[in-house]
Amino acid sequence: MEDSALWHKILPEQRGLYPSYGIVRSGGRLKNNGRGKSGLTKGATPTQGSNVHIDTFTGGLFETNCFYLPEARLLIDAPQDAADWLQRRGYSVDGLILTHGHIDHVWDAAQIQREHTCDVYYHPETEPMVRDSQFFKRLGFNWEVSPIEPGITLGESPSEILGGIDFQLFYVPGHCPGSLCFLHKAEEILFGGDVLFAGGVGRWDLPGGDRDLLLGGIRKKLFVLPDSVRVLPGHGPATTIGVERKTNPYLQA
Ligand SMILES: [Zn+2]
Repeated sequence: MEDSALWHKILPEQRGLYPSYGIVRSGGRLKNNGRGKSGLTKGATPTQGSNVHIDTFTGGLFETNCFYLPEARLLIDAPQDAADWLQRRGYSVDGLILTHGHIDHVWDAAQIQREHTCDVYYHPETEPMVRDSQFFKRLGFNWEVSPIEPGITLGESPSEILGGIDFQLFYVPGHCPGSLCFLHKAEEILFGGDVLFAGGVGRWDLPGGDRDLLLGGIRKKLFVLPDSVRVLPGHGPATTIGVERKTNPYLQA
């Protein structure tokens, strides 16, 4: 675990199955395989046919996606360079939602909290990862997290209003303790973090990971959602529940 690149390395058994991310970072803006428009989209990739604006930024070593909802002034995850991107775009954040505490998702969280004096939402199990600067060092990773000020903890819930949006929250650990997926109920968009990817799932070999917990949680909690629900994952392109239920190689019966 001494090599920080391990964080992102694909498991041997995932090699060949896990897709290349299909998203390239260009001048700090997202390009979705050349198919979608980069930047602020409405009715285009990654939220085709929907009525919600979502701006996407992919940042850092691990090409981590974050999502900004301008009307709600909500940001979902805080990868490296996300704070600068918000400044460049002129976005202000009232609420920062953290899907889980892995460093590539919380890298800029403290800076964003400071610059925007925003609320930060996360699961209680995420707390040590974002509040204890030595958390990852103790696990053998050479990273020091900038600790955030205390946030607001959330658990699994059928309804949680954040930024005026009604979300359903699913607790799906197994990739990382405290992983939450946030379903925007009105728009049927799941902000899934590193749980379910297009053609893949989150790696389960990191500290606190558990394959059965992860796959069981996806089957029981996410795959019961309608086929049409769009999934915006923490890495790689968007997908849908229907496509993943039918074709995801990790989750076939
Ligand atoms: Zn992760």
